[in-house]
Amino acid sequence: MVDLKTQYEHIREDVNKAILNVIENTAFINGPEVSSFQSELENYLDIKHVIPCANGTDALQIAMMALGLKPGDEVITPSYTYIATTEVMALLGLTPVFVDVDPKTFCINPSLIEEKITPKTKLIVPVHLYGQAADMDEILAVAKKHNLYVVEDNAQAIGCVYTHKDGTISKTGTMGDIGCTSFFPSKNLGCYGDGGALCTNSDELAEKIRMIANHGQSKRYYHDVVGCNSRLDSIQAAVLRIKLPRLDSYCDARRKAADHYDNFFRSIDGITTPFRADNNKHVFHQYTLILEGIDRDELKDHLESKGIPAMIYYPVPAHKQKMFASFGVENMVLPVTDWLTERVISLPMHTELEEEQLNYICESVKEFVNK
Ligand SMILES: *Cc1c(COP(=O)(O)O)cnc(C)c1O
Repeated sequence: MVDLKTQYEHIREDVNKAILNVIENTAFINGPEVSSFQSELENYLDIKHVIPCANGTDALQIAMMALGLKPGDEVITPSYTYIATTEVMALLGLTPVFVDVDPKTFCINPSLIEEKITPKTKLIVPVHLYGQAADMDEILAVAKKHNLYVVEDNAQAIGCVYTHKDGTISKTGTMGDIGCTSFFPSKNLGCYGDGGALCTNSDELAEKIRMIANHGQSKRYYHDVVGCNSRLDSIQAAVLRIKLPRLDSYCDARRKAADHYDNFFRSIDGITTPFRADNNKHVFHQYTLILEGIDRDELKDHLESKGIPAMIYYPVPAHKQKMFASFGVENMVLPVTDWLTERVISLPMHTELEEEQLNYICESVKEFVNK
């Protein structure tokens, strides 16, 4: 699905030098690479505070801890997402309240949020799924009206630019109270291990987040709140410092591959290509088709037999996971979520796709459809 090896070949010298430098300086934890990366990412996102942490799941957990949510508080979120988004809610004793997604963007449908709000609702967690921004103007308006926090799960969309109704622009992850992202190797800005970050424009939240991620410590050996231990290590920060200046060109490469796929698949019956909203710039973390009247499992097998990986993101939505059985949500009807989970398939998508490879993948899909 991704070709991290070829991407590495292009930056090998810089990366090797940067990693070696960390080792020579033995500044493995909280070294200068981490603080430099932090300020470079603040500049890139145009946000006041970035707080690096160990992974994207931790970022979400720390965000919900920093907002002071209490067990039993309700959080509005899509069910159609990677499990990390909703898992941390359950871990903190919060109640995920699942809302259906928009059939075009695959992101939470803002017009269905208000009916799910109760006096216990404290937070909305939109997910910018597959690299496209959720409908943030609408989400922020509902949140404001009902005095709710917003935490953006930006693990799949770093680099995406959203245009507000008034024409101003924001990067995804910077519009809510807190944005969370992941630097898992296959993400659009991936390191060579685990990594993640939170970002916020609030000085107060930034201070809380820093404290929570560092054992609840206010000054050395004084621990004011229950926290955790979540750090980005210096080697990962050094790798990210090489890749961050290339992030926009990486997103362009993904969009170019998506254009190629779109042009080919647009004319094939039974295949719906990814929707691209006018108000944001899709960064194609995934390239995901909707199939109608085409057997998904057989197509996947056919592609595999030709050496092409394809994946189903996600075969089981959160509300149908055993993990949430005690929440009594398995029979909940989320028509669009249920419909999509039976019909989506994701094709290889990364920064190194050559025209020849794209043609081979496209022709292989066509060959199956025409069979
Ligand atoms: C990858 C991902 C996460 C979790 O990130 P990790 O760094 O793997 O913990 C959270 N949410 C979404 C939507 C993701 O895709």
